[in-house]
Amino acid sequence: MDNCVFCKIRKGEIPGTILYKDEDFMIIKNIAPSSKVHLLAIPTEHAPFIADISEKSAELLGKMMSKISHMQEELGLTNGYRLIINQGEDAGQTVSHIHIHIMGGEKLAEF
Ligand SMILES: [Zn+2]
Repeated sequence: MDNCVFCKIRKGEIPGTILYKDEDFMIIKNIAPSSKVHLLAIPTEHAPFIADISEKSAELLGKMMSKISHMQEELGLTNGYRLIINQGEDAGQTVSHIHIHIMGGEKLAEF
């Protein structure tokens, strides 16, 4: 999508700290972190909501979680991490391109 910040970062049109990138997805640093380590895992396919994604990308979300678990130490998440997908306004989704928040690097509030 032309005006999507995540698509622009992937294409190198705007700066972003990319920690991992393959053809299917990338992991970047969140520019406004809510925890000591706050990363975003973003599929290449532009889709605003889970309801919009293709079957291939639905499988990819699982692959992304597996990759994150294998990169746990490399990403600074040795003692655990939290994965969150915000969907829509009430959840506070600020970019209309599905992404998984990866949070950790410190003791997170329980809920
Ligand atoms: Zn996008």
